[in-house]
Amino acid sequence: MDRNLIIVANWKATKTIKETIEWAKRAKTELERADWAEIVVCPPFVSLPTAVSLFEGTKIKVGVQDISKFKKGAYTGEVTVEMLDGLADYAIVGHSERRRYFGETEDDIIQKVEALLEFKITPILCVSDLTQLDSYLARGKEIIENAEKVVFVDEPPNAISGGGAYHPDTPENASLNSGKISEKIGKKVKTLYGGSINPENAHLFFSQKNIDGGLVGQASTEVDTFLKIILSIKPGRAG
Ligand code: PEP
Repeated sequence: MDRNLIIVANWKATKTIKETIEWAKRAKTELERADWAEIVVCPPFVSLPTAVSLFEGTKIKVGVQDISKFKKGAYTGEVTVEMLDGLADYAIVGHSERRRYFGETEDDIIQKVEALLEFKITPILCVSDLTQLDSYLARGKEIIENAEKVVFVDEPPNAISGGGAYHPDTPENASLNSGKISEKIGKKVKTLYGGSINPENAHLFFSQKNIDGGLVGQASTEVDTFLKIILSIKPGRAG
């Protein structure tokens, strides 16, 4: 593991502002030392400014878990890309939970990617399977043209942890899928793996040659568990 991995913490709908402060204070120094990984923390919107100010001046990046497909206007409740100016470097888009619970379509997701690219925020685009990738590529030529500005995530929905249980894909299969994402795009793109990453299996996934890091849900919400993951992938310790 001598590459600079990208590790994204997706807190989902957890954590108050107070809990965000506690997590950040506990993690900050150790994450700062982890020069083998680009760490991106994605809190809920309410905690975003708090996270930004707590990590200001550090190497830790802050991202969001979703964004509006609309740029501005009469869309009550929406948070637009423009509003992220100075707050986020990354945005997760197309997470299968958004598709499942909020009815997001592929067209919605492509619009989000396009808006993010326009405002120079890196999209972290979740790909449930290769058929879905085909559909993104067929509909959104911006994605192919700007593929090097997008971070792709191989994230099979059935590998996402639930109810406290981890049920990951195998590292070999995840590596194969990541390789196929680059193949379909026609050049090597950054591809993460997401689904039940935890301190026991992180090094197995992140030592695969096609996998450039991970999207970590449940195991990122508990700060010591997340720190264990980051330490477990330190070069020379594993992989
Ligand atoms: C996710 O939801 O993006 C995810 C990878 O979740 P978990 O790590 O909990 O499987």
